[in-house]
Order: sequence, then C-alpha cells, then structure tokens
Amino acid sequence: MTDTHFPKDLATASHFVDGRYVEDTDGAPIKVIYPATGETIATVHEATPAIVEAAIASAARAQADWAALDGTARGRVLRRAAEIIFARNRELSILETYDTGKPLQETLVADATSGAEALEYFGGLAADVTGEAMRFGGDWAYTIRRPLGVCAGIGAWNYPTQIACWKAAPALATGNAMVFKPSETTPLCALKVAEILIEAGAPPGLFNVIQGRGAVGAALTEDPRIAKVSLTGSVPTGRKVYASAAAQMKHVTMELGGKSPFLVFADADLDDAVSGAINANFYSSGQVCSNGTRVFVHGDVHDAFVARLKARTETAVIGDPMDEATHFGPMTTQAQLDIVERHLATARDEGATVVTGGERLERPGFEAGYWITPAILTGVTDEMTVAREEVFGPVLSVLRFEEEAEVVARANATEFGLSAGVFTRDLSRAHRVAAQLEAGTIWINQYNLTPLGMPFGGSKQSGIGRENARLAMDHFTETQTVYVGMGPVEAAF
Ligand code: NAD
Repeated sequence: MTDTHFPKDLATASHFVDGRYVEDTDGAPIKVIYPATGETIATVHEATPAIVEAAIASAARAQADWAALDGTARGRVLRRAAEIIFARNRELSILETYDTGKPLQETLVADATSGAEALEYFGGLAADVTGEAMRFGGDWAYTIRRPLGVCAGIGAWNYPTQIACWKAAPALATGNAMVFKPSETTPLCALKVAEILIEAGAPPGLFNVIQGRGAVGAALTEDPRIAKVSLTGSVPTGRKVYASAAAQMKHVTMELGGKSPFLVFADADLDDAVSGAINANFYSSGQVCSNGTRVFVHGDVHDAFVARLKARTETAVIGDPMDEATHFGPMTTQAQLDIVERHLATARDEGATVVTGGERLERPGFEAGYWITPAILTGVTDEMTVAREEVFGPVLSVLRFEEEAEVVARANATEFGLSAGVFTRDLSRAHRVAAQLEAGTIWINQYNLTPLGMPFGGSKQSGIGRENARLAMDHFTETQTVYVGMGPVEAAF
C-alpha cells in the first residue's frame, strides 16, 4: 500500500495471500477515501493476474487439509478469531469508520462485533455438519455434506467487515477455503479479518483477500477452480455474476438490493413504529440493503406519525463520525451522494414534498465530505421514481394507505423482495400480512435486526440463497449419497 498517511498502523499492504500481506504495485491504484473529509487515507492496488493466481492456488492448497480436519478443530480456529475480533473491537471499528464513514457509535456495535458473532456461531456449528441415513429393505444409503472447495466472496461497501465474516464463517466452518474481494470503495477491513484468522491458527491460504474493481471479481467468478460465488451487491451486478457462474454450473449466493415496504397500521404503537422507521431508513446513513424505504402509513395515523417522525429525525446528531455522540455520518462515496441528490430532485419534480432534510452539511473540517441530512418525503405515490428504485441513502418515503388488502398488493408490486416490516398490535393481522408479503425477511414490530441464528436473504430480484443460520451451511456444502448394497446383485442376464 502506498501513500498511507493515516491510519498508519491499520493496514500494511493491498492484499493478504497465503498467510501474509503482499503488494504488487503493477495493479491499478485505488484511492481509499475517508468519506467525512474527502481525504485520501491510503492507496491500494488492484490485484494483477499474478495476485489472483496466487490467491486461488494457495486457497486450493489450504482447502484439502482444512476439510480433512475434525470439525471441532475448524470450529476452534473460528471461535479464536471471534475472540480476537471482540478484543480488538475498538481498533477495528475505527478502521470501519475510516473505510465507510459510518459513525463510531454504530461501528462499535454493528460491524466487527457482528463479524465476530458469525465466526463464533459457525465455529460452534462446525462439528455438526451431518448427513442422513435411510433404509431400502436390507439395503441402505447415507448422505455426507461435502465442502464445495474454493469459494469466492465478493463484497459491497456498506458493511465491509460484516460481509467478509458472514461469508467466510459458514464457508470455512464447513471445510471450504475462500478468496474474498472487498468492494473497491472499502478495501481495508477485510484485510484485518484475514490477518486475524491467521493469528487464530487458520492455515495460510485458507482465507485470502485481494483488491480490485469488477474485473477482478469477474476473474474470480470465471476461474474454473472457484466452486461457488457468494456476492453482496446490486441487482445488475448480481445478474452478471450469476450468469458467469452459471456458465460453469457453479453454486451461488446472491445478496442483492431492495425497495422494502414498511407497513404501519392504525393500531400500531406509533412511537415504536417511528423508531422502527428511523432504524429502517437512517442507520448507516440509509446505506442498508434491507431498508424499509417505502413507509406505508394508514390514513388515520398518517399525520401523527409524520409529525413524530419529523420531530425525532431533526434531533439526530450529525457530524464527526469519530465522536461517539454522533448518530449520523456522511454517505460513503461522492457517487452515492450524487445518486441521493438526483433522487431527491426527481421526487420533488414528480410531486413529493420534502418535509425535512436532504440538505448538504457545511461543517468546518468536513466541507469536502459526502454529507446530506436525513430526508423525509410525504405525498409519495407508487408510480414515483423514488418509490420504485433503490436509493441506498437516507431518503424515507411516506405513502398513505387505507385497506389491508390494498397495502399488501402495493407492498408486493416491486421486482425486489428482500425484506418487509409490519407494525400492528393485532396479532392475527401481523401474521396474516407477513404470510402474504413477498420478501425473504419480514420483521413484525421490529426492523433490521439480524441475529446470526436467523436466515437472511432475498426473494424475487433481491437474491438467491440465504446467509446466516444453519441454512447457510447447506449453501456451502453439497450432498453426496452413498448407496450400500447388502444382498446379492440381481441382473437380467
Ligand atoms: P455493486 O453491485 O456495485 O458491487 C458489489 C461488488 O461486486 C463489488 O465488490 C464490485 O467490485 C463487484 N463487481 C462489480 N462488477 C462485477 C462483475 N462483473 N463480476 C464480479 N464482481 C463484480 O454494489 P455496491 O455498490 O458495492 O453495493 C451496494 C448494493 O449492494 C446495493 O444494491 C445494496 O442493496 C446491495 N447490498 C445488498 C446486501 C444484502 O445482503 N442483500 C447487503 C449490502 C448491500
């Protein structure tokens, strides 16, 4: 890594391959920018073909021995890595804040810790990769869950540590190796995960991190030695990666974008619904795939809900992400800020009202950062661009509804199907509506909580497969069936 002037001690080279940091300055430079100030804090280099080759080859070497280990031994390494991450949480959270701009108040509790919990959770399950046995008269058969081999992980930029760990933990627990390519926007955090896994006792090559833009991701998905691709990213990228993987019949997990509905019925606890809507739209400056950005509010409570939501949103502490009192930081990139501003302008043109927010923040020291205040739009209708396209920023759209059947139909009228939220005190309605919503994850009277024991992922265009929970182990293994003949073999002639 060149030009690194801060944080000096937090990253030492562009890639982590075969158990050590490696550099190859022949790769195109990628500037790492601290979003709060716009400063370049480091420069990494894209992986050259030689780095990609080294990463895949060393992962393949490591994988066979790792898969042959007893599951308890694999699990011990993952759990040790989790302990190291927990112990180094503050340092890793500061790095996450430099990488993404997310406030330390969030990164201290939601990023390295969530990554560590994934390693802890799947470390605990590593000894429990079991098959089934079945009888057919005197004969019988049994199944074994076999690791796939070398898997590729490709990450988005909003949760760089969490995404690396959510992919690595189930892959490694089940006996695979992984080559991980972080987003080019946030390259630093995954390197630390690789370093910590080695410190915890993982063999060199088991988890390699290489940098690069889409072409490096494509080089991984196209390599015949890669057995599976797990992508977190946008729907258009998902289509490309899925098509590339399909050409060689590879396994995939696709964690893609969303435009999730958030339903507030007239009987909801309004303060809880407002809290849920804030979490569902403004956490991480709105850069969360599962955000409930279409907030459908029943006509009877619409005005009261909007008034409370506006008042509470205006109390958000916006500013220095390194100050633990700060609730709300900058967008992660200039490009994402531009997208948000374009969406706000289009929403205004199409007739929505901005009741608060959507303004650039001019703060001494932060003038060159990517700041925009959390925005609430009312008068949004289903046809408006802001109600149809993923914004991936702090833009909450309020839409009015009157009937349950009407709001369910409107909630489902999207190509996305990542998540949904239902706020009501009526138990029957909550479950009836949840059963009709076309989404991979639905929260009732809560939003965006993703404990490791719960499957998470999207339906429709939002993805294929699930992360977390026992289910993720299935996505990193394949079933091998062994038929055992116990009697004489009959043949026609
Ligand atoms: P993106 O699709 O632009 O990039 C994602 C990753 O794919 C990056 O690492 C990128 O370099 C890589 N990539 C791009 N083209 C590629 C190609 N042809 N082959 C292989 N890899 C390629 O997404 P982003 O802007 O980094 O992230 C934002 C998007 O991610 C949003 O749509 C958001 O909803 C989604 N997301 C989804 C989840 C989830 O769990 N469902 C979580 C976070 C973000």
